[in-house]
Amino acid sequence: MGMDALNFWQMLSSQEPGICWLWLGARDPRGYGRVRWQGKARLAHRVAYELTHGQAADCVCHRCDTPPCCNPEHLFDGTRADNNRDMTAKGRHGAVVSPGYTLRGEEHQRAKLTQAIAERIRAVYVLGGVTQRALARKHGVSQRTVAKLLNRVSYVVDSEAEKVRLGISD
Ligand SMILES: [Zn+2]
Repeated sequence: MGMDALNFWQMLSSQEPGICWLWLGARDPRGYGRVRWQGKARLAHRVAYELTHGQAADCVCHRCDTPPCCNPEHLFDGTRADNNRDMTAKGRHGAVVSPGYTLRGEEHQRAKLTQAIAERIRAVYVLGGVTQRALARKHGVSQRTVAKLLNRVSYVVDSEAEKVRLGISD
């Protein structure tokens, strides 16, 4: 029996924004989480990155230097790190986070979900097998809120980031 996306996120110590989400399953000698994912032995933080971004990265690095951490906000594509840092400094790339991060989308008044959770809901929904209603119940928001974020009416951070996530080169 394979693990699905919902089960995956439940294997973490926490899903609170701003702190490390530690993998509770097996770990490798370096401390990285290990997971059997779609029939393959994988590193948990890499799976977390893929679920969040919709694509793999050559090198998924931890901002927090905590190998078992799978908080997508603490993970970044190391091959693009310099570029990302630069964009963060310029403040025009809300999806990229760093220690002490802010996500502009969720700062907006009375946001019910963090941007990271909104992204995760999209990632989970894309994989199928779960209804908008179930996702709404799980996260304590209305189905309308889920529908809006899935339709990218809300919780849209940055059109450039969106293109990257969707694999649109231009
Ligand atoms: Zn962390």
